[in-house]
Amino acid sequence: MPAVTTDNVLALPRVAEPDRVAARPRPVVSVTTAPKGYEGEGFPVRRAFAGVELRALDPFIHMDQMGEVDYAPGEPKGTPWHPHRGFETVTYIIDGEFVHHDSNGGGGTITNGDTQWMTAGSGILHIETPPEHLVVSGGLFHGFQLWVNLPRTNKLVAPRYQDIRGGQVSLLASPDGGALLRVIAGDLDGHAGPGVTYTPITLVHATLSAGASLTLPWRPDFNALAYVMAGKGTVGAKGRPVELGQLAVFGAGDTITVAADAKQSMDVLFLGGQPIREPVVAYGPFVMNTKAEVMQAFEDYQAGRLGSIPAAHADVRGEAS
Ligand code: MN
Repeated sequence: MPAVTTDNVLALPRVAEPDRVAARPRPVVSVTTAPKGYEGEGFPVRRAFAGVELRALDPFIHMDQMGEVDYAPGEPKGTPWHPHRGFETVTYIIDGEFVHHDSNGGGGTITNGDTQWMTAGSGILHIETPPEHLVVSGGLFHGFQLWVNLPRTNKLVAPRYQDIRGGQVSLLASPDGGALLRVIAGDLDGHAGPGVTYTPITLVHATLSAGASLTLPWRPDFNALAYVMAGKGTVGAKGRPVELGQLAVFGAGDTITVAADAKQSMDVLFLGGQPIREPVVAYGPFVMNTKAEVMQAFEDYQAGRLGSIPAAHADVRGEAS
């Protein structure tokens, strides 16, 4: 698993050891297993949030672990052009490459720990594909796409694109050096990551060495989720077992604890954000507050008001997914 790593974890800044007396450990409320499915033109995903009620996920809406898959030559797949409105997509690539183009002029290639942040806002069309050379060669593909909701006041903001290179993430170590932490967005113990969202969130990719335990300070006003992207271990102070493809939801408190299995490392995506607490009507590619607004989004899309496929791509597949 490449992502972004370091030769010497011990040389990194450390997150502070939480106060064991004053800090309240956040209890594990649920552990769910992501069902497998297919996205876009048929790439394999795990639906990380399936079976969890929206209230526990708020401000997050949806997350797919894309892969990990080792494609044969000719197999790599992406998505056709399709619209979005009312939220932000965050795409984090660990292995392989994904090429993005959108109707707002945004675009780029992301690979090995890069993140691409797209604010759909009032509306956008985009396409996500493996580059041609990867389609030919095949190879490893592994990443995440997370949907972050926008509050009513920001649903229709102008679209925006942020390209975050893997080298920009903040690298930290746990107090004993047993875990490497990559702060992709938001803030962890005063260390800020590069991603900027309308809705305040914290997004951290942690790699725990075999046998390592990690207790992180976590903003009490944020929700707290931990998704196991590789390996196995435990979550919570009571050590509830978890493995690849499982999501833990934590309850109220100040700290979150995870630990890797004694014999194998574990990679965890930590997510937290300020709940928006508004009605959510999510249907297909649109996330709005009311059913009428979703209907309006479909109408606007069909009328071409969410943008149009740039001329340079006009010969490419143009149907919505
Ligand atoms: Mn999309």
